[in-house]
Amino acid sequence: MSNIQIGLLMILLTFLGITGYNVWLRETTPPPMSYSDFLENLEGQKISSVHLKGGSIRGVDTSDRPFSTFSPDVGSLMPSLLAQSLEITSESNDPGIGQFLKSLIPVILILGGWLIFNRMQGKKNGSFAKSGGAHLIPQQTSNVTFEDVAGIGEALEELTEIVDSLKNPGRFSKLGGRIPKGVLLQGSPGTGKTLLARAIAGEAGVPFYSLGGSDFVEMFVGVGASRVRELFTEAKKNSPCIIFIDEIDAIGGKRSGGNASGSNDEREQTLNALLVEMDGFSSDKTVIIIAATNRPDILDAALLRPGRFDRQVTISLPDVKGRQKILAVHGRKVRLSRNVNFGELARSIPGFSGADIANLVNEAALMAARHDKTSIDMEDFDEAKDKIVMGLARKNVVISENDRRVTAYHEAGHAIVAKMLPDTDPVHKITIIPRGRAMGLTQQLPLVDRYTYSYEYLMNRIKTLMGGRIAEELIFGRLTTGASNDILGATEIATRMICEWGMNPEIGPVAHQQTSSGFLGEGSTSLGGSEQTAREIDSQIKKTIDECYAEARELLMTNNKFLHKLAEALLVNETVDAEEMDIVFHCYLNEKEYEKSLINKSQEV
Ligand code: ADP
Ligand code: ZN
Repeated sequence: MSNIQIGLLMILLTFLGITGYNVWLRETTPPPMSYSDFLENLEGQKISSVHLKGGSIRGVDTSDRPFSTFSPDVGSLMPSLLAQSLEITSESNDPGIGQFLKSLIPVILILGGWLIFNRMQGKKNGSFAKSGGAHLIPQQTSNVTFEDVAGIGEALEELTEIVDSLKNPGRFSKLGGRIPKGVLLQGSPGTGKTLLARAIAGEAGVPFYSLGGSDFVEMFVGVGASRVRELFTEAKKNSPCIIFIDEIDAIGGKRSGGNASGSNDEREQTLNALLVEMDGFSSDKTVIIIAATNRPDILDAALLRPGRFDRQVTISLPDVKGRQKILAVHGRKVRLSRNVNFGELARSIPGFSGADIANLVNEAALMAARHDKTSIDMEDFDEAKDKIVMGLARKNVVISENDRRVTAYHEAGHAIVAKMLPDTDPVHKITIIPRGRAMGLTQQLPLVDRYTYSYEYLMNRIKTLMGGRIAEELIFGRLTTGASNDILGATEIATRMICEWGMNPEIGPVAHQQTSSGFLGEGSTSLGGSEQTAREIDSQIKKTIDECYAEARELLMTNNKFLHKLAEALLVNETVDAEEMDIVFHCYLNEKEYEKSLINKSQEV
C-alpha cells in the first residue's frame, strides 16, 4: 500500500470522525433558546430547573421541554434566578473527564479504522500476526558481483575483507578477530553504494535485506522501532547475511535532546532500537549491517562508535579512468558500433556518477533504436550525453570548465608548495573531483605518525595551505571563495603557534587563552592579558600568515612552469597520485635543464 493511499484513508477517517462527533453533539444538546426568550420565560415563571456551567445554561421549562442557552453574564442573572423557586444545579467550567473522553472520540474512530484496515491488509498478505515485519522486508538474493562495480578504487579492497568474513565466519572468530558489524558507505548519490552492498552479498553468497532509512520513520509511532527488531530477528535466523540500510541519515541524524516533537520522537526511538540491536547480537551470528549516506556529517556520533558503524568507506565520484571502466561494465550489455571510444567519451563527461553513466548507456541505446540502427555509435552517445547533461545542469551538479581550471590550479598550488618545501608531509593524492562542498582535494600523508610538530613544519603547513589561493591569484588574477577552508586552517595554526605553543618571539612562551574559534568571535581574550596583548596577538597572527603567504608566492612564481604542468595533468586525469606527480616533476626538471643548456650554448657562441 502506498503512502498516498494511507494519507487519503486518514483524511477520510478524520472527516468521518469529525462529522460523527458533531452529529452526536447536536443529538445530546437540547434545542437552543435565545437569551431574551429565556429572560422572558424566567420572568413569566415558566422555567422549572436550570443547570449552569460557565455561561451555558441548560434547563427544562414548566411544560417539561428541555432547552439550552448562553448567558453573557451569569453573575447578574443570579439574583433573578434565586428569587424564584427553581431547582438550580451547576458544575465547574473546566473540561471534566467526560469532556476529555468526548474529545477523544474522533481519535478513537481513526485508530479503530486504521486497525481494521490494517487487519484487512494483513489478511490480504496472508499473515496478520507478522504484520509490518518480514513480509515487508523480503529476503533477497543477489547475483551482483564485484565485476559489476567499477571505478571505485581503494574502496573495493577494503570491502573484500568483509566478503571473506561472511564466507568463512568460523576462521575469523577462531583467530580472535572481530568480524566487522557495521560498514558505513559514504558518497554522493549514484556512486554505487547500493550496488556495492549487493555485490558484497553476491560475492559472499549470503541473503540480503534492503531497507531505506525513511521507510522506518514514515510509519506510525512505535512502528519504526518494532520494525528494526523484527528485521534483526529475521536476519539472525538467516545468518550469515547482510542488512542494507539506505539513507541512514533519515533515522540516524543527530539526536535533538529535549524538544521532542512527535516525528523526532519516533525517529529517536527507531535509532535507539537500532543501536540496541547492533550492540545486542553476539559474534557467532554473522550479520553485517551496511548503511549508506551522503550526509555523514549529520550522523549521530553514537552510530559511529566501535562495535557499530566503525568501518567507514568513502566512495567518490569516478575519475576519468573510473568512468571509462564503468562505461565498459555497462557497455558489455549492449551492442556497440566500432567507432565507439570509451576513453574519449569518459573524458567528455566530468562529474558523471556511476548512475549517470548507466543512464547514458541506456539513453544511447534508445537513441540508436529510434534511428533504426543495429548498433550504438558515438553519435548516439553524444546525443544521449547532451540530454543528460541538460538534466544535470538543471540540478546544478555540472561543474563549469572555468571552475575546473581554477580548481586544478588551486590544488596544484597546494601540492607544489608541499613538494618543494622540506619538513612537510608527502603528497599522497591530488584530485579535482568534488566531494561534498570541497571542489577538490590535496591529500598529504605523514611518513610516520607525528606526535609533536616543529616550528618549521607548522610554518610550511601554513604556506602549503596558502598555496591554493596564491596559484589562483597568479594565474587568474582573481580571488575566489574556494580558499575559505584553507584560510581557516592557516589562521588556526598561526593562532595556536602564538597562544598555545609559545612560538612567537614577540609574545614569548606565555599561554594565552585563545580557543581555536576565538578569532571568529568577539576578538581575542587572553589569560589575564590586557587588551594591549590581545591586539599584539592579532597583529602577530597576521604577520605570521603574511610572511608565509609571501614565501609561498615566491616559490610558486619561480616554479611557475611546474604549476602549469601539474594543473594540466589534473585537468586531463582528474586525480594525480604521488607517483604521477613525480613524473610531472621530473619532466619539469628535465625541461629546465634543457633550457639552461640552451642558454649556456647561446652564451658560448
Ligand atoms: P547509490 O546507492 O550510491 O545512490 P546505486 O548503487 O543505486 O547508487 O547506483 C545506481 C546504478 O548506477 C547502479 O544500479 C548501477 O547500474 C550504476 N552504477 C553506480 N555506480 C556504479 C559503479 N561504480 N560501477 C558500475 N555501475 C554503477
Ligand atoms: Zn585549498
